[in-house]
Amino acid sequence: MARSRQPLIAGNWKMNGLRADALALATAVAEGVKRAGWTDREILVCPPATLLMAVAEAMKGSGVLVGGQNCHADASGAHTGDISAEMLRDASASHVIVGHSERRTDCGETDAAVRAKAEAAWRAGLLPIVCIGETLAEREAGRTLQVLETQIKGSVPAAATAAKLVVAYEPVWAIGTGKTPTVAEVAAAHAHIRKVLSGLVPDADAVRLLYGGSVKGSNAGELLAVGDVDGALIGGASLKADEFLAIAKAA
Ligand code: PEP
Repeated sequence: MARSRQPLIAGNWKMNGLRADALALATAVAEGVKRAGWTDREILVCPPATLLMAVAEAMKGSGVLVGGQNCHADASGAHTGDISAEMLRDASASHVIVGHSERRTDCGETDAAVRAKAEAAWRAGLLPIVCIGETLAEREAGRTLQVLETQIKGSVPAAATAAKLVVAYEPVWAIGTGKTPTVAEVAAAHAHIRKVLSGLVPDADAVRLLYGGSVKGSNAGELLAVGDVDGALIGGASLKADEFLAIAKAA
């Protein structure tokens, strides 16, 4: 079943990269992907918004897609410092990450705000990657599955279908820490996410579920082999072309 869902390997560069370094990284990723010649997986990088157009240009001919890291729910207007889904699309993005835990924490984004951003992505013709994940305290209190369920029900818009949605499970305590859940814990979380989605999305079996949190070349194989894991969302390791390509290879 899992292989009927095309794996998606997505790099989240976060607030990293000035033009010269970012273009060197993008060029190395583009060349590696071209060399590999994969046709059975999607590769995406989400650079800072300032670099979207330049990175998109560097990726031309490689098949590597580019995406945004966040968007505002509105198409335009008086929202100083924000960026709309339409602007991302105009800058060559095909995807946008919404509800990353850093934004939920740093900017107080609620499930309702994340849902509105996912709807904005659709309006602009982007594919939203909706992020969910429990904190360490929630895991230690045995509340992981309940937290994921609440986040899915609050963050996934009612009209979602597999073609319009990617969900990324990112345990907050695993992001940037070098810690990962066990394979069994990832499998349990992903199975639960798919079960919850089956009550919301008509073709839930076809929704791609990414795992994110300290994925690197050396652990990607075992994480991506979990039945309900259809790809990865990668932070730190996506800033090194070799690591990112090793993860893509493992898909
Ligand atoms: C992320 O921020 O989405 C992420 C998964 O980060 P890292 O890979 O560095 O843990």
